[in-house]
Amino acid sequence: MDQRIDGFHDPALCRSLVGAIRERLAGRRLRFMEVCGTHTVAIFRSGIRSVLADVVEHLSGPGCPVCVTHDREVAAFLDLASRPKVTVATFGDLMRVPGPGGRSLKAAQAEGATVKIVYSPADALEWAAAHPEEQVVFLGVGFETTAPAVAATLQMAKAREIMNFSVLSMHKLVPPALAALAADPDISLDAFLLPGHVSAIIGTEPYQFLAAEHGIPAVVAGFEPVDILDAIKTLAEMTAGGTARVENCYRRVVADAGNPRAMAILDEVFAVTDAPWRGIGVIPRSGLALRPEYAPWDARVVFAVEEQDVPPIPGCRCGEVLKGKLAPDGCPLFGRVCTPAAPVGPCMVSTEGSCAAYFKYRVR
Ligand code: SF4
Repeated sequence: MDQRIDGFHDPALCRSLVGAIRERLAGRRLRFMEVCGTHTVAIFRSGIRSVLADVVEHLSGPGCPVCVTHDREVAAFLDLASRPKVTVATFGDLMRVPGPGGRSLKAAQAEGATVKIVYSPADALEWAAAHPEEQVVFLGVGFETTAPAVAATLQMAKAREIMNFSVLSMHKLVPPALAALAADPDISLDAFLLPGHVSAIIGTEPYQFLAAEHGIPAVVAGFEPVDILDAIKTLAEMTAGGTARVENCYRRVVADAGNPRAMAILDEVFAVTDAPWRGIGVIPRSGLALRPEYAPWDARVVFAVEEQDVPPIPGCRCGEVLKGKLAPDGCPLFGRVCTPAAPVGPCMVSTEGSCAAYFKYRVR
């Protein structure tokens, strides 16, 4: 194992943290939500979920970018894929996300649409530069973590005057989603485990309202077992002491002030806008739209994209899963009709999706 992280897997330290968590909770059960798909997977893979099952209830929140992409956004990019001379450039995990009628980009590709899997928005831009006869549309999904790279690519497209490249921005902002969940009376939570990657960009200040306005403790955590256990211990201490603060337990990566350079790039290219989230609905000021100066590279403008409501996927309970109201194995389709090989909903598609994680680590 990499020497830089092997200390974060130290079994003795992990055991001691587990003991400290049990001691702090002493008879009560902490109910917390992790809002990052990477945390969901790490908590399963490390065994933390099962080791602490009697004292900690884990809920997976809206932390998977593919899963929170709304049905009507999926319908919009499927529509773009069907337009003549349009090449849709996307990360691979959007390929199998089902849209209206169960249709996906993979199905659209089989029907003749041109869909190209890329590993970065810059790859999509270079493809556009090399293929001026195509209109290349990059599908921009993700949170504050991925949006700066898309913003930098748009700056590059503008500087190089590459006019056959555009972005369909479906980017979402995490703090407004947490505000919506914290204010929902049907969701009872003791605490939030905050996403390490997103926090590396935005820092800790945007989460302060969780403690100040809602009295909910929240801790930024890394992704190794010791990171996660240390964060849970901090949450358990606050819960036991009846206090609520926002703590940063991932200081080797996350500065409290975030990454000002990345935030400046975001602000230069994007404006904050209302955005639809799967299962939650439209959350005010929770998305990123291209600023008017970038209209020639805004797929919504270039292709006059109109998002329209589409019927939900029959039987899929992803919306409740994303709000922590239902465990994935509580969905009647889980593991029988809906599997990673034949996903019905997006939470079973993405490797970071809650349903896919439940299936991989719990179903035998
Ligand atoms: S198991 Fe499948 S159908 Fe059920 S909520 Fe998860 S993704 Fe949707």
